[in-house]
Amino acid sequence: MKMKETTMELELEPLGLPGMELRRPFVIAGPCSAETEEQVMQTARELADKGIRIFRAGIWKPRTKPGCFEGVGVQGLAWLKEVRSETGMLVATEVATAKHVYECLKAGVDVLWIGARTTANPFAMQEIADALRGVDVPVLVKNPVNPDLELWIGALERINQAGLKRLAAIHRGFSSYEKKIYRNVPQWHIPIELRRRIPRLPIICDPSHMGGKRELIAPLSQQAMDLGFDGLIVESHCDPDKAWSDAFQQVTPAVLDYILNLLVIRKENQTTENLNELRKQIDECDNNLIQELARRMRIANEIGTYKKEHDMTVLQTNRYNEILNKRAAQGEQLGMTPDFVKTIFEAIHEESVRIQMSIVNG
Ligand code: PEP
Ligand code: MN
Repeated sequence: MKMKETTMELELEPLGLPGMELRRPFVIAGPCSAETEEQVMQTARELADKGIRIFRAGIWKPRTKPGCFEGVGVQGLAWLKEVRSETGMLVATEVATAKHVYECLKAGVDVLWIGARTTANPFAMQEIADALRGVDVPVLVKNPVNPDLELWIGALERINQAGLKRLAAIHRGFSSYEKKIYRNVPQWHIPIELRRRIPRLPIICDPSHMGGKRELIAPLSQQAMDLGFDGLIVESHCDPDKAWSDAFQQVTPAVLDYILNLLVIRKENQTTENLNELRKQIDECDNNLIQELARRMRIANEIGTYKKEHDMTVLQTNRYNEILNKRAAQGEQLGMTPDFVKTIFEAIHEESVRIQMSIVNG
C-alpha cells in the first residue's frame, strides 16, 4: 500500500555553501574517518590544493559490528578547526546524537550531516532536531538505509520544523541483502521522486558509499550529474589503502581531482528545435493514451452494470490472465519488455475492478 504523500512544504533557503554559485557539482571531500592529526591535515592540504572548498571527516563512526574503529571522538574536532584555519575550507562531520550536535556547535563545525542509519530512526532524528532548534547551520540528510522516501522526507521535515532552512539531501544508495555490484543500490527513481516532491531541495550524490569501490566513483558521479544532481560528497584519503575504515572506496585527492575533471556537465535547460518537436509528439501520445484509458474505463463501467444485472462475479480470472498474456506478448513483438506491459495492464485492470465493484455493490 502506498503511503500518503506529505502535505507539508519544506521551508527552504539556499544552502549557501562555497562553490555552489560557481559551478556544478559543488564538492565535499575528505576521509571516511578522521584517524590522526597528521592524516587529517595531510589530506586536507592536498584537497585544498585541488580547489576543494568543503572538507568532510567522520569523528563518530557508526560501525556494523562492535570492536571496529569507532572514530576518534571529540579530539577530532580540534583537528577540523585546524583544517579550517590552515586551509580556509569549511568543515563537515556526521552527528547521530544530541551530544554530537552540542559538541559540533561548540567547536564551530560549519556543516553537519546525518548518517543513513540515523535517518532511519525517527527518535534519533527528533533528538537531533531538538538539539538544533534555533541554530542556523546547513544540515545534509542522507537517505535511510532502507528504500523509504517517506522516512527520508520525514527526517528532513523534523529538522525543518526545528527552524533549520539550509537543508540538502545526500543520496548514498540503499542497502540490500544480495550484494551485487554496488555496496548500496542506487535506486535512482527514489531521489528523482524526491526532486519532484521538493524541487528546491539540493541533492548531493555520495558515490563512495553507493559503489563501495574506487572504480565506481567516476561512473556513479557521472550518472548523478546526468540526472541534474547539485553536488557530490566523495571519500578521499591521503593514503587510501591504509584507511582505518572504508579503505576500498577511498581515493587520493589527486585521483579525485582527475575524476572530477573528466565529468561531463550537461546543461539542464538546453532545448533544441528537434527536442521541442519530439516533446510535442510525446504530448500527443500522452493525450491519446489518456483519452483511450478514459474510454476503456467507460466500457468497464458498462460491463459492471451488465455483471450486476446478470449476477456475475466482478473478477473473471481467466479473462484477466488472457488480457495480461496477450498484451505482454504483443508488447514484446513491438519491442517492449513483457514486465513493463504487465505492470501497466495490472494497474489498468485494478482500476477496472474498482469501478465494477462500486457498481455491483452500489
Ligand atoms: C559516512 O559518510 O562515512 C557514513 C558512515 O555514511 P553512511 O551513513 O552513508 O553509511
Ligand atoms: Mn565511510
